[in-house]
Amino acid sequence: MSKSLQAIRGMNDILPEQTPLWRYFESTVARLLDNYGYRQIRMPIVEFTELFKRSIGEVTDIVEKEMYTFDDRNGDSLTLRPEGTAACVRAVLEHGITGGGQVQKLWYIGPMFRHERPQKGRYRQFHQIGLEVFNLDGPDIDAELIVMTWRLWGELGLRDAVKLELNSLGTSESRGRYREALVEFLSAHLDKLDEDSQRRLKTNPLRVLDTKNADTQAVLADAPKMADYLDDESRAHFEGLKARLDAVGIPYVINPKLVRGLDYYSKTVFEWVTDKLGAQGTVCAGGRYDGLVEQMGGKPTPGVGFAMGIERLVLMLEALDKVPEELARQVDVYLCAFGEAAELAALALSERVRDQLPNLRLQINAGAGSFKSQFKKADKSGALYALILGDDELAQQVVGFKPLRGQGEQQSIAWDALAAHLATCVVQG
Ligand code: ATP
Ligand code: MG
Repeated sequence: MSKSLQAIRGMNDILPEQTPLWRYFESTVARLLDNYGYRQIRMPIVEFTELFKRSIGEVTDIVEKEMYTFDDRNGDSLTLRPEGTAACVRAVLEHGITGGGQVQKLWYIGPMFRHERPQKGRYRQFHQIGLEVFNLDGPDIDAELIVMTWRLWGELGLRDAVKLELNSLGTSESRGRYREALVEFLSAHLDKLDEDSQRRLKTNPLRVLDTKNADTQAVLADAPKMADYLDDESRAHFEGLKARLDAVGIPYVINPKLVRGLDYYSKTVFEWVTDKLGAQGTVCAGGRYDGLVEQMGGKPTPGVGFAMGIERLVLMLEALDKVPEELARQVDVYLCAFGEAAELAALALSERVRDQLPNLRLQINAGAGSFKSQFKKADKSGALYALILGDDELAQQVVGFKPLRGQGEQQSIAWDALAAHLATCVVQG
């Protein structure tokens, strides 16, 4: 196939074999968020480029290297969203729903776009579920976000495979003082820093802490620590968060080098990491951004949020064999009909059954080959039971009811009794 008729590198189809696991994951998260009182918001996928520059920061990997930016027909510069927070903040401001200190607990789901080097767990179109909370400034809400994810890992069977890393970046004032000390220290060791870090030292010095370069890491071992520069308020906030995590029994490690790739964070930052996915180890990441709303033209509004990468979590469920068994079966009952009159009766019968059993997964296969080939399809579908409706059954107003998974003989069931019979033998979720 010519290249221009193929999918774009790093942008994947999610095939029918994979969607049950995606839907399981997404519905598990959605139910949990409902339970905690979070409401869904849906933003457009495209925004003005300026929005991301202003919120994420000009000197970040995302804005410098990763955005899909283009001019539309009016000449406006637009960008496919690389993350959700910027658009969510824009939306709440535009609709005034955080005004007057109104608390908003919001979540969203959808594709994000970043021009990165595609590899396992890293794609150019990927999917996130994200949360943003506005107008709550205490550590209790930071804790709630983490507690919810901890519950999610529990439900998914992933608790043993993830680790929580925490740090506090302080207020912008204390971060400013720390930045100065860091720049002073690193400038004295400039020749030992890798090229990227030398550049970052000028443009975004905190990001040097993020380096993967071993020599630079060695230099950083003696660098000033953010913790020593925290203001009292940030320190108390961080202690409050830790106390809450301790109270629930959530283990964590403090990672003083955790700075996160976006400029807008303050105070709490956290990441859930795993060693099960190779280099792409962060499955969920977030933090507090008390200055962002104001920076984007709103009234001072505290905010905190996180985003998790759906691909990485789905990969983890597969790698750790945590895919629920029931996902293998997408069909409960498979109805095979033979002959024109029987096919009509089968259609009417299946609709009657659906009226009574709205959760039943009933697949009807009419006019699709011989008895043998239909039966094979029924078996392959994973269905628990096959229903057979041919001329004989039509004459008697019954269906043949055949267990496909080895439980018992075929029997005849009257049409009128079919729904009741199915209700007793198919467990409905
Ligand atoms: P990384 O350090 O892996 O590049 P990030 O800090 O850029 O991650 P965030 O912007 O915090 O990532 O996004 C939140 C989550 O979204 C990440 O923890 C990850 O699970 C997921 N994610 C980010 N970028 C990608 C990508 N290109 N492909 C797949 N998932 C991604
Ligand atoms: Mg990244």
